[in-house]
Amino acid sequence: MRTAGRPPGKWGFWVVAEGIPIGRHFIDRELACAGCGMIRVSLELFQLVSILDAIRDDLGAPLYVQPPHGSGCRCPEHNQTVPGAAAVSEHVIGAAADATCPSVPYDRLYAACERRNGDGGIGRYDDGHVHIDRGPRRRWTGGSH
Ligand SMILES: [Zn+2]
Ligand SMILES: [Zn+2]
Repeated sequence: MRTAGRPPGKWGFWVVAEGIPIGRHFIDRELACAGCGMIRVSLELFQLVSILDAIRDDLGAPLYVQPPHGSGCRCPEHNQTVPGAAAVSEHVIGAAADATCPSVPYDRLYAACERRNGDGGIGRYDDGHVHIDRGPRRRWTGGSH
């Protein structure tokens, strides 16, 4: 069911992360904005977390989604201070994560992201993280995100 006049996929609200589990392997603080500690609760966030859970299961090793290893939600103010952040970023609506998994080869991490987020966005970065988001299917290497 879709409510007339409401853009699909843009529902969400910001709350202070309190250390609450939001997936099998993740708590809210791990996906929260590194600037203010808030997290944007949305349907996309829960989709993203279930994908991160699946990737983590595939790899059998911890995934990191907080600086300096990664990034989750970014509020608009914090996004402006992040080097390499896109002005319009899926991170700002809580639909993106930059994930690292230092204990497995990068190509294995990337392949798991492709397997579990094949219909979304995936960016390859030479600093060791993979960007995944719940926006339209796109692939890129390097650049802003
Ligand atoms: Zn913030
Ligand atoms: Zn990213």
